Amino acid sequence: MTSSSPSTHAAMETFDVVVVGGGPAGATAAHDLARQGRSVLLLDRAGRIKPCGGAIPPRAIKDFQIPDEMLVAKARSARMISPKDNRVDIPIDNGFVGMVDREHFDEWLRVRAAECGAVRRIGTFDKITRGDDGVSIVHFEQRETATKGFSVPTQVRARSIIGADGAKSKVASQQVKGAERTKYVFAYHEIIKAPEVKTPDYDASRCDVYYRGSVSPDFYGWVFPHGNTLSVGTGSADKGFSLRGSVAKLRETAGMSDWETLRREGAPLPMKPLPRWDNGRDVVLAGDAAGVVASASGEGIYYAMYGGRLAAESVQALLSTGDVRSLKSARKTFMKQHGMVFRVLSVMQWFWYANEKRRESFVKICEDRDVQQLTFESYMNKELVRKKPMAHVRIFFKDMAHLLGLAKA
Ligand SMILES: Cc1cc2nc3c(=O)[nH]c(=O)nc-3n(C[C@H](O)[C@H](O)[C@H](O)COP(=O)(O)OP(=O)(O)OC[C@H]3O[C@@H](n4cnc5c(N)ncnc54)[C@H](O)[C@@H]3O)c2cc1C
Repeated sequence: MTSSSPSTHAAMETFDVVVVGGGPAGATAAHDLARQGRSVLLLDRAGRIKPCGGAIPPRAIKDFQIPDEMLVAKARSARMISPKDNRVDIPIDNGFVGMVDREHFDEWLRVRAAECGAVRRIGTFDKITRGDDGVSIVHFEQRETATKGFSVPTQVRARSIIGADGAKSKVASQQVKGAERTKYVFAYHEIIKAPEVKTPDYDASRCDVYYRGSVSPDFYGWVFPHGNTLSVGTGSADKGFSLRGSVAKLRETAGMSDWETLRREGAPLPMKPLPRWDNGRDVVLAGDAAGVVASASGEGIYYAMYGGRLAAESVQALLSTGDVRSLKSARKTFMKQHGMVFRVLSVMQWFWYANEKRRESFVKICEDRDVQQLTFESYMNKELVRKKPMAHVRIFFKDMAHLLGLAKA
């Protein structure tokens, strides 16, 4: 660690918290802390729209007060499509899945944090060093805007730091042991212009999910409505698999080859929560930086926002009490709440997405009303549904029948 002289301390701005990354995790953490009166610097490099399908559950809308105008579409059903083209339509009872456009959603979250008092800077995080007094110094390259002006090397003092700089987080790799061992899947999508006239296969209030080896050997492909546009994408941990080729085929299958392409983009997704989220001193991670994307679904926005909130609570406790053990509470609380769902989804992906036969059975199982209701209730409310024991028993026996080949695929 390098250090700096006391005279430079006096000249340097000091913040209670520097939040690195202004995506859903960082912007939520900055908002919560600024609202509680902490001095917060929200640092984001900006300039790139986060590649994302943009699907969020009602629980996210409720817990983080996301206004209706942020939703570019509301999906009221999901269509599961099997290798043999069996199509199962699942109505989303009493609600909808909200679709956000990350270009506007993320900026709205950052503005909301700033309105609560967080100071925004555009810049790229470089490293953390320690001052002579032990307080951390955050080094970054600051710019006037994402595209304008020179980069100016800048340093600020930080009593605590939240690393919310996404997958392959620089804060995590520099500060948290074990972060370098994270494994990733890669997801890719194309944003295309929605048709102005109705077409037989596209419904702007339905999410289509393709379970097919040709679309992904270990994940799924999707067509998600975004109002005037739509996201068509897929993901895989198999580095040899052509995601672009797969999306081209998917568009062909869905009759969308000729629709205008507005953007082509992809990004890595972490495969499981990191074993540690803090450095035992003054840094805690949140969101993709902490590895919290659900297997099987690839859902990360809600978990990033919840993780950002927990990181903010743990930092607030650290600043109030000086007890560095407070930082551990972010991971502990998160895993208590969602660890089981993450484990179940990971086994589910490993088993049901393994080959065409199982994908076919998986879609078949989705015809079952109990499966539909329990799956969607868990997704929408972010709680395992425990109140229907007989439905769980029925699902268990149906699953066994499929596993043992006793049920017709
Ligand atoms: C193709 C694709 C589709 C997806 N679809 C969905 C979906 O439909 N629903 C869902 O819930 N999830 C989806 N996800 C996952 C979801 O996008 C992420 O889990 C979520 O964005 C994580 O939020 P975050 O704030 O942790 O990180 P990010 O959203 O990645 O934000 C990180 C922020 O940090 C900034 N940053 C990075 N490095 C630096 C640096 N060095 N200095 C300063 N700033 C930095 C970036 O500019 C960015 O703003 C998808 C992901 C992909 C790739």
